[in-house]
Amino acid sequence: MPEVIYVATRNPHKVDEFRALLAGVAERVEPLPDGTGECPENGVSFEANAVEKAVYYARFCPGWVLADDSGLCVDALDGAPGVRSARYAGVHGDSAANNRKLLAALADVPPADRRAQFVCAIAVWHREARRGWVVRGEVPGYIAQVPAGAGGFGYDPLFWLPELGRTFAELSAEEKNRWSHRARAVQALLAVWGRGDVP
Ligand code: IMP
Repeated sequence: MPEVIYVATRNPHKVDEFRALLAGVAERVEPLPDGTGECPENGVSFEANAVEKAVYYARFCPGWVLADDSGLCVDALDGAPGVRSARYAGVHGDSAANNRKLLAALADVPPADRRAQFVCAIAVWHREARRGWVVRGEVPGYIAQVPAGAGGFGYDPLFWLPELGRTFAELSAEEKNRWSHRARAVQALLAVWGRGDVP
């Protein structure tokens, strides 16, 4: 078991989610150290961005670095906002504006045609060992017509799960960690990681 995994994100919600998801995989799950600067995210796929981030931040972190890139892909919008999820409305990380823009874009789309997927690519990279993997997790759902719930972050109040009849923002942290795209990507990671010798 690795002693420490650095999670390459500045989003404290994601650090908390990964801490819970990686419990038992590493002795410690740490956020990035200070002074790393920001890795640009210009890739055309979630996987490309995750790999770029893991390799970039590995310079500053001894051992394993885990980077994810995630977002929401809406079928009726040809996969948008996709890799632009964080900056869909223009300003990086303005969730209220992103959600307003998404509801406006889908104003004429009936409930049955509002299918969407949350997607998460995870890359892990160990600089000294020159080893790594990249995996993907997805969760299908629908975009609600009005936001519901106060939990989570980002598009959670609009992402409705037919199996539960609730949005992600209406789930407890434990429930979200059972259903989320990040949870599914972590499961995929453990399936490949567990097979190799992990330094
Ligand atoms: P990233 O931090 O570059 O991966 O950007 C992810 C963006 O996608 C976030 O800013 C959110 O807008 C959205 N996103 C990713 N995962 C989630 C989630 O679990 N809930 C809600 N929004 C998410």
